[in-house]
Amino acid sequence: MPEGQPITRRAFLRRASVAAGVLALRLAPVPALGLSVPRTLTAERALGRVAGTSIVVDPQFPVDYLGVSWERGGAPFVRFLADGRWSPWAQVHEDEIPSMGGRTWSALVPADHASAYQIRGENTGVRAFAINTTDGPRSLMWQQPEAQASHILQPPIVTRAQWGADESLRCNPDGTPKFSWSFYPTGKLIVHHTVTANNDPDPAATVRAIYVYHVQGRGFIDIAYNFLIDASGTIYKGRYSGPNGTCSSDSPTGEDPLGRGVTGAHTGGWNSGTMGIAILGTYTSTPITPPARAALVEHLAWESERHFLDPLATTTFTNPASGTTRTAPNVSGHRDWTATQCPGGALYAQLPAIRQEVAARVGQIGAPDTKPPRISAIEARKIRRRRAIIRWRTREPATGQVRYWEPGHRRRTTPLDQSLQKGHKVPIRRLAPDTEYRYVVLSRDAAGNLAKSRVKRFATEG
Ligand SMILES: [Zn+2]
Repeated sequence: MPEGQPITRRAFLRRASVAAGVLALRLAPVPALGLSVPRTLTAERALGRVAGTSIVVDPQFPVDYLGVSWERGGAPFVRFLADGRWSPWAQVHEDEIPSMGGRTWSALVPADHASAYQIRGENTGVRAFAINTTDGPRSLMWQQPEAQASHILQPPIVTRAQWGADESLRCNPDGTPKFSWSFYPTGKLIVHHTVTANNDPDPAATVRAIYVYHVQGRGFIDIAYNFLIDASGTIYKGRYSGPNGTCSSDSPTGEDPLGRGVTGAHTGGWNSGTMGIAILGTYTSTPITPPARAALVEHLAWESERHFLDPLATTTFTNPASGTTRTAPNVSGHRDWTATQCPGGALYAQLPAIRQEVAARVGQIGAPDTKPPRISAIEARKIRRRRAIIRWRTREPATGQVRYWEPGHRRRTTPLDQSLQKGHKVPIRRLAPDTEYRYVVLSRDAAGNLAKSRVKRFATEG
């Protein structure tokens, strides 16, 4: 969830003034930004009667193909000027498509980027049609992905228009936006839950409710999240990411043409340069559904590959807007960044396995992390009659937990500290005075590898 107090689903709906409507959601492959095909250039030239050799025609662009037509006479010959040299004369072939209106058309003649051409024959009503399909102006545009592409494609999304985003919340009646927004290279992928109801019968309506709440209630310029996923694995486009100054030119990727992600409002202090994706629902004690998990893995894999992020790594991130730094997993939960329960304990506990699945999907980013974190500097500190603090370090950021027991007694375990850290400090309480305890420390890294120390001991005061 975004920064702030948890709010109930009822509060969402009370504040939501959106009209309920049935949305027909059509999922199409998501296009990627690229250059359009070149605009086709043509130049037609009427040569009239040709008796012998025609004039030299320069159509002002390199000729890829030439088509010739004529009214009377046999098939003429053509030749092309390329690199200052004329090709041999070649007789044109008649086109396979029957000619109409007393005019005969040639098949297209490959011209190999010639700068000029010439026609020879005994013909009347000669016309030539020069074509260039490779050098015309191109424009930046969204293109349909190629099915055989070797990279990971963005999974299908429900666009803002499809889920019914009321763009008048962000935009003035004249079609200009009320706000401006920023783009930064994506350095971290942050997972949230929305703290709305599970088994949601109408997830698109909930997305609309979150949107209106974030804008009209919370005062954000737009919905906080970059993307949202429902329990059936449908991914919704979150925050608008079209160019500044536009209201209806959203980009499906959440990025500008340079591949920089739009800044959201999902993780206070760390919104610039991070992508926030929220699972619709509440996952404090319930894990996310398998379809939602599959969609999340696919989305994270696409983002990881696109932004060269190792999904198993924990690295230092510098907020590109503020310059502040923090060490966190590349695929992290909201609670790795600020004090919050988000994305819920059950979903947070799924993240190590999800990172492994993302890494397997991305494949080439390097060998999977199968090594448990290295534990060092274990010590029992501040030992009193009934309590003690166990401290240790891990070489990589990892969770912390202590298992302890009196010899011959049942083993007990401290609550799991799920925050990924290198320095660990775990209190143990309700110990028996004047008693010797054994203990081991347990740390699990971001990839889920568990390390367990050797058995250590301490004795409480009498
Ligand atoms: Zn959150």
